[in-house]
Amino acid sequence: MIAPADLGLLDGFERALINGRLRMVYQPKVNLSDGRLHRVEALVRWDDPDLGAVSPARFVPLAEKHGLIDQLTQWGLRTTLRQWRQWRDEGLDTALAFNISALSLDALDFPDLVERMCRAIEVPTDRLVLELTEGATQPLVKLMDTLTRFRIKGIGLAIDDFGVGYSTLMQLRQLPFTELKIDRFFVEDAPTSNDSQLIVRSIIDLAHGLGLSVTAEGVETVEQLRLLRQLNCDVAQGYVLAKPLPPDELLQWTRELPDRWPGLIGNA
Ligand code: C2E
Ligand code: CA
Ligand code: CA
Repeated sequence: MIAPADLGLLDGFERALINGRLRMVYQPKVNLSDGRLHRVEALVRWDDPDLGAVSPARFVPLAEKHGLIDQLTQWGLRTTLRQWRQWRDEGLDTALAFNISALSLDALDFPDLVERMCRAIEVPTDRLVLELTEGATQPLVKLMDTLTRFRIKGIGLAIDDFGVGYSTLMQLRQLPFTELKIDRFFVEDAPTSNDSQLIVRSIIDLAHGLGLSVTAEGVETVEQLRLLRQLNCDVAQGYVLAKPLPPDELLQWTRELPDRWPGLIGNA
């Protein structure tokens, strides 16, 4: 049964997907050690003529529920890999992160599909990272085989939104993650709350102990940036550095990065 409120949304989304009216935007992540570009995360956007901008936090779960997620994932991945290829041709040498719904990981041949796409578009699998979020219905431990296949192909795996929702310490030990993203909930309070700061510090130390690189997401202030650097966090991402940007603006942003960094955080 589909809720009446979702019906119009689902219909509109399906038409946007079929008619090529979705687009991808790209948010940079920056190395806290030297201020250089670490990687770019692709995020989907849907601007509906009637509904306005609809958040992926609304339509991705809807696509998951109604059998459209594989189509969305494949469209998003193809669009992103092509854009990545174009940037490489334009001289922007960056790694790339892409969000994958846990539902798309059900298929054991999905890693092969991703590898084939990378080959056809001529982008390197060993610079691609997939960001995964634990869901209520799709425990990641059940997807061990698929995750291992990605790692064998050199594709990195990040656990997203760590610390909230369904993510657990057990996954960190059992699953072949290469990177952990601290949820912005903890990042937000870290400069003012001792508890949040302790949690952020502990997550960073724990992740490093397990050999994972740590990204803090949702970084909105210079204070948060400085604190994260003090706490040995590897990478930061958030509005204080850049919002998710259309491809040409992202390219422009990377060209201005060396000038911007010292003003933000002092001499790197
Ligand atoms: P996420 O992967 O955790 O992405 C981070 C979200 O935080 C993005 O929201 C981003 O625009 C937003 N954000 C970035 N910096 C800041 C900041 O400094 N402050 C605040 N308040 N927010 C910030 P967005 O783009 O609306 O995406 C929401 C969620 O939808 C994503 O969370 C991800 O789970 C999902 N999503 C987005 N694009 C895709 C996609 O192509 N495929 C799949 N499967 N899921 C996607
Ligand atoms: Ca993400
Ligand atoms: Ca996240």
